[in-house]
Amino acid sequence: MVNFFMSLIQFFIRLFKKTDNNSNNTADISETNINNYNDNNENDVEETLVEDMFDYNGKVIILDNGHARQTSGKRSPLFSDGKTRFFEYEFNRDVVNRIARKLDNLGIRYYKIVPEVEEDIALSVRANRVNKLCNQYGAGNCVLISVHANAAGNGTQWMNARGWSVWTTKGVTKSDAIATIFWEEANKLLPKYRMTMRKDNSDGDPDNEANFTIIYKALCPAILTENLFYDNKVDVDFLMSDLGREVIADIHVNAIKRICKK
Ligand SMILES: [Zn+2]
Repeated sequence: MVNFFMSLIQFFIRLFKKTDNNSNNTADISETNINNYNDNNENDVEETLVEDMFDYNGKVIILDNGHARQTSGKRSPLFSDGKTRFFEYEFNRDVVNRIARKLDNLGIRYYKIVPEVEEDIALSVRANRVNKLCNQYGAGNCVLISVHANAAGNGTQWMNARGWSVWTTKGVTKSDAIATIFWEEANKLLPKYRMTMRKDNSDGDPDNEANFTIIYKALCPAILTENLFYDNKVDVDFLMSDLGREVIADIHVNAIKRICKK
């Protein structure tokens, strides 16, 4: 008789556990359950608070998404479906928006200097916008990051050049150390997806150097990322994918986090 009762109790315990497990498994289906789940998961909440309080050391990140819908060129050859092309203005804006959302979550202050989509904003105007922020916050507190994708040809045919690179102005400036951080962060992620890295070690660091107007005119440290080649078929597939864009945004955010800690 005692055994019978024990079995009965164990049966109800198993039944209760099963019901409980089932309700956990469906926790992500309804909004109410999601709220309950979050309320009960203290670790998640704690992690969010730590991220929110990320010390950005007074740094101001200036994001430049170059080109516009009306910019000539800056697009890939036609894909084999006969209708798809990669447009650089769209990619640059999407990546900058992804970076911005991640910086929002970290509480890092940033500005997007080109809200316009249709009209190409002249480099001198963009440089003026950057320098206005430098005057407002102090050039030493600002970092300009100009986001691009590269091309080897003129958009009429697929090319062989591939890889990720970062650029600074000529000579040794504060931008070189920042560019090295970007290169290191890219090198941590991109090879995992079989994407290649480009570097120019001739001046002792992995960045490439050219006096592009936007980084040359900026009063603050400034770098320009060329995020793979959109006229290379392997690279462009990655650039068209949600995963590829997330990885590229993560490279920038991981580098920004390191810069803000300095
Ligand atoms: Zn570009």
